[in-house]
Formats: sequence, structure tokens, C-alpha cells
Amino acid sequence: MAALTDIGYIRDLLGRHGFRFSKALGQNFLVNPTVCPRMAEACGASPESGVLEIGAGIGVLTRELALRAGKVVCVEVDDRLPPILDETLAGLDNAEIVLQDIMKVDIHPFMHEHFGERSVSVCANLPYYITSPVIMGLLESRYPFTSITVMVQKEAAQRLCAEPGTREAGAVTMAVRYFAHAEKLFDVSRGSFTPSPNVDSAVIRLTLHNNPTCTPAEEKRLFALVRAAFGQRRKTLSNSLAGAGIPKAEIPALLEAAGISPTARAEQLTLEEFIRLAKESLK
Ligand code: SAM
Repeated sequence: MAALTDIGYIRDLLGRHGFRFSKALGQNFLVNPTVCPRMAEACGASPESGVLEIGAGIGVLTRELALRAGKVVCVEVDDRLPPILDETLAGLDNAEIVLQDIMKVDIHPFMHEHFGERSVSVCANLPYYITSPVIMGLLESRYPFTSITVMVQKEAAQRLCAEPGTREAGAVTMAVRYFAHAEKLFDVSRGSFTPSPNVDSAVIRLTLHNNPTCTPAEEKRLFALVRAAFGQRRKTLSNSLAGAGIPKAEIPALLEAAGISPTARAEQLTLEEFIRLAKESLK
């Protein structure tokens, strides 16, 4: 079989199946032959491990993962793709396509059903319209993925991997940092896809921490505070935190108890300071 990155083969394959790309589903398929092997290596796939993929396309990454992992399960929402994947993944018995919307997957039962006790990493070229909800859904599920290696828009990668205290840092930076160590691995140019998107991309890897430092109630408050503070990032915390449901009159005392200046803004706080604020606000 021709390489799944061969543009002539892709055109013929998609033409035979009458397939047209869906912009709404974020369908930009990889045609740069070096990217999928690098992603598959970076996610640590091995014969003993499993990999959860999101969004198969024609299976270009699925194939590389199946060549390395014990088992690959890919959640794909587009019901026009399975007949194409039957052809492109023929002979790879350890790859399974599950036709489902990843946003509707209940992670723990799904993982138990498909992987049992196997250790599992995530590897995906994510549809860009759901990058943050997918990443947050995976992290908030608290399923012990060994790592999450995903391709996202370059700007999203900068936000996800930003250092607190920098201009790129936002609510999602803090939320991701609470659960994981985030690192950018490499850039991928827009010309690496068909059709070519309007922006460049990057591959990032999240390595999960296994010690939650907050109770579930503190965690909920933490994310509400982070969202409120970054939602009005130009305002001082004395003004922005009211958005998290804290009575305005109580904010100065709360900031003082947490050892934070009342004139500080969201982007000046570390994650540890936000955690202190969340804990104090529930005392
Ligand atoms: N992995 C392929 C590649 O690298 O060429 C395809 C990547 S393409 C950027 C995103 C894929 O995600 C498409 O196949 C699209 O149909 C699928 N997708 C979009 N929304 C989805 C959803 N909610 N759940 C599961 N898959 C989805």
C-alpha cells in the first residue's frame, strides 16, 4: 500500500469514497511524512501499552501508533470515515475505530472497556475547534494517562505551555498546570496538511502529576477564581474576583489572608497563589 501521506494516493482514495473535507469537523489531514512517526515516538507507545487517539482522518497517525503500541483505540465522529479506514488500516488487528463524539465519551468506563488494566497514553492531531475542552476533559477525568501528546494550533500551544506571569498565560495555562507539566515538542507548518489551514501548529506533551493538592470543592473554587481573574485580566483582583461569586466587600480580607497584594492582576499570580486564595475563600 502507498504511504498515507502520499497526496496522489489520498486524492484517489477520497475520490473513490466520494469524501469531501468538513471544515466544521476541523478536517486537515497530515501529509508531512515525518510528523506522525515523531508523535508516535513522543507518546511512548510500546508493545505493552495502549494509545487513545482522537480523530482518525484516513488513519495516518493511527497506523504509526498501531505499528508501535499493543493496542490503539481511535474515537472518530465522522461516519463517512470507517469505510475508508477499513481500507487504510487493513491488516492492523490492534487498531480499533470507535464511531463516537469524543465530547460525549465517559472516559473511565470507556477506558476500562477498551484497555482494561493496560497503561495508556493519548496521542492525537486534535480538531482545533475543541482543543481546550478535549484537553480539559481528559485532565479533569483524572484518568491516569501516562502522557497526552497532541497537535494544536501554535498559539494554543504557546498558551498551554506558557509560564505564569507572562503575557501568553491564561486561565487554561493555570488549569493545565494544576494537572500536568506541559512542554512544547516541535512546530508543524501549515503546509504539512491537506487542505492547508490558515495557521501553523505545534505538538505538545502533557505529563500528569499524580498528587492533587486540593479537595474537589477547593478545585472547583480554584477554577472559578482563575476564570474570573483572567476573564478581566486588566482589572486588579480586588475587582475581578467578584466574578467568581465572592462578595466584593470580602475580597480585600481574603487577599490579605492569602498574602496577595490587592492591586495584583491575574497574570502576576502563580498557581500556588491561586490555590492559596481558593483554600482561604472556603474557610
Ligand atoms: N489524525 C488525522 C490526521 O492527522 O491526518 C486527522 C486529524 S483532523 C485535524 C481531526 C479529526 O478529528 C478528523 O478526522 C475529524 O473528523 C475528527 N473529529 C472532529 N470532531 C470530532 C469529535 N467531536 N470527536 C471525535 N473526532 C472528531
